[in-house]
Amino acid sequence: ASNERREHVVLLASPGAGHVMPVAELARRIVEHGGFTLTIITYTNFSSAEHSSTFASLPPSVSTAVLPEVPLDDLHADARVETRIFTVVRRALPHLRDLLRSLLASPAGVAVFVADLLSPRALAVAAELGIPRYVFFTSNLMCLSTLLYTPELARTTSCDCRDLPDPILLPGCVPLHGAHLADPVQDRANPVYPLMIDLGLDYLRADGFLVNTFDAMEHETLVAFKELSDKGVYPPAYAIGPFVRSCTGDAANDACIRWLDDQPDGSVVYVCLGSGGTLSVAQTAEMAAGLEASGQRFLWVVRFPSDKDNCASFFGGSGGDGGDSPMNYLPEGFLERTKGTGLTVPMWAPQVEILNHRAVGGFVSHCGWNSTLEAVAAGVPMLTWPLYAEQRMNAAMLSSRVGLALRVRPGTSREGDGVVTRDEVAAAARELISGKKGASARAKARELRVAAANAMRAPGGRSREAFDAVVAGAWKGRSSSARVGY
Ligand code: UDP
Repeated sequence: ASNERREHVVLLASPGAGHVMPVAELARRIVEHGGFTLTIITYTNFSSAEHSSTFASLPPSVSTAVLPEVPLDDLHADARVETRIFTVVRRALPHLRDLLRSLLASPAGVAVFVADLLSPRALAVAAELGIPRYVFFTSNLMCLSTLLYTPELARTTSCDCRDLPDPILLPGCVPLHGAHLADPVQDRANPVYPLMIDLGLDYLRADGFLVNTFDAMEHETLVAFKELSDKGVYPPAYAIGPFVRSCTGDAANDACIRWLDDQPDGSVVYVCLGSGGTLSVAQTAEMAAGLEASGQRFLWVVRFPSDKDNCASFFGGSGGDGGDSPMNYLPEGFLERTKGTGLTVPMWAPQVEILNHRAVGGFVSHCGWNSTLEAVAAGVPMLTWPLYAEQRMNAAMLSSRVGLALRVRPGTSREGDGVVTRDEVAAAARELISGKKGASARAKARELRVAAANAMRAPGGRSREAFDAVVAGAWKGRSSSARVGY
């Protein structure tokens, strides 16, 4: 077998830890499958310390390459995260082309190019070079369906989608309010709006979508999507998830884990709003007061508040001088008063290890898809606190269809608007840990945990089989360098 040619797969991860980590996980799975070498391409812009630790644990057959930093000084200081990411991706295309060309000319060649969900623009470069190309869609299939639908929505309506009178009914998806759609689609005046239309069109250049989802989460959506791709409307989608990082054991000495070791089973509400999520000053105070008033044990990863942006932490949001800490923005005396019942940690915590700790009973989450799948894999029910990107539609699906999550304000379509009061926070935290609705979400979480493990089991797991089919079936035996000049 050592003489067997190993195909070279090139993966492109969009800027941001929330994109790089799942791509690294995909790389690990491809290598485990056998028969491939890999290069992960990342961007210099917005790279962070988490990248290097993520990469340090990858197998030796995975190489990394970094595209040079591109200037963003001309962007408005208020430019949103999507603008920044799409701008980086577009401006770095010439660098990507050079890199792919040199890889094609190397002995390894390039068998397949895989871009993640925010970089499908790069598929055009792969197409130009004759390289088979896939999208690793690190959110769910409902989200992909909405993005593929965006160009049509733009063409067939004239109002802002949040003002649409009727729900949007996409095949196999939960009914969505226009206000549930991804942020930049909300508003035609948003400079990202046309880029989102391009995104929907760019996806169509893919030979297929690897979607980080599984049948028990999105059965109806998968069935409906397959009908559409069988008719040639969309490229095929392969549900290959849930791909989540596993516990490494490295965190055993982490202060959060040691604190959790002393708490009773299923008693702690874990609060963490992703790698970028940020609350306003007023909401930070209400969150603190609500957690305190709930009487529940809690572990809260707290960020610098921002009244400007609900994902300010993506850019290292800080309160001012370098010595500042987000802890300084909590209500007076909060840390002392909650010392027995709560642990508040600044900026970052080992989430996968936390979710898998027996003491954690619920997860207040922004519903980022990685966080959601990590909760699913750990069997932890959620309380939805959507902030940005596609999180509102994830929250709708998780609460109204899947039954894994409670909503902090049932019936509200945009929790991101307005402040959730301390009473609402306290009631929701209590319900999650010990209420009746919480019990049903807990039961669902246990069920999904088993379904997720089964989906990934070899042999026979549905997601595992789908993955093997595409990797072994479609990617093996691709001649690569021969394709130059297509
Ligand atoms: N994460 C973490 N510790 C933190 C915050 C986030 O380990 O304090 C990880 C989390 O486990 C997840 C990722 O960062 O893997 C966040 O991805 P997600 O898709 O949930 O949200 P995003 O940050 O992209 O909005």
